[in-house]
Amino acid sequence: MKLAQILFSQGFGARRECEGLVATGHVRIGGEVHDDPFEDLKPEGLVFSVRGEPWAYHEKALLMMHKPAGVECSQKPKHHMSVYSLLPAPLRKRDVQSIGRLDEDTTGLLLFTDDGALIHRFTSPKKHVPKVYEVTCKHPVTPEQVQRLLEGVKLVDDHATVQAAAAEATGETTLRLTLTEGKYHQVKRMLAAVGNRVEGLHRSAFGKLVLPADLAPGQWRWLPGPEVI
Ligand code: URA
Repeated sequence: MKLAQILFSQGFGARRECEGLVATGHVRIGGEVHDDPFEDLKPEGLVFSVRGEPWAYHEKALLMMHKPAGVECSQKPKHHMSVYSLLPAPLRKRDVQSIGRLDEDTTGLLLFTDDGALIHRFTSPKKHVPKVYEVTCKHPVTPEQVQRLLEGVKLVDDHATVQAAAAEATGETTLRLTLTEGKYHQVKRMLAAVGNRVEGLHRSAFGKLVLPADLAPGQWRWLPGPEVI
């Protein structure tokens, strides 16, 4: 694959811009300037830098972020900044999308990809991908509330009954909840349905993937492939 084409595929701009970036000496591989836009290279495993920004070639983008509070999972946020503003420009140009959404005040594990099939695979209600939430409640969590969450509760304005795949109190006012659906505000609405109220919400796992302790709020990291999810 030609070097300029590699840059184009990674979101570094239009084809002509990418040719210009290479020709003007802004691209380095292994610390050395490569200024022939049409140099033929094997893209898999290629690590390079553009204007000093290190980059690793990924045919499809798949990454995880520790979403901080106060950012919206929308390209056109209404009240806060967009979670997409925490991603570097090439990923935004590649049009990566979050796999599902978290509320503005929810923190934790959020995945992004530019692979539409993957988004479908992980958000389809039929797939039942488990998501684990650490919930801080306003009132003490009672055994009855846990029981009702496990048995199924009816949400206001929703005919369907939803139930947690797992629920356990982790402290007097804290709860770990595993859900396999992704209805709008589902955790908050389920806790409201059992007479409690969510004061803090954090997603600690998505599928097999657990949010790493060393990924700080606002940081993101590449994932090797969908098999880790
Ligand atoms: N449930 C909610 O209520 N909010 C989230 O952000 C995620 C799940």
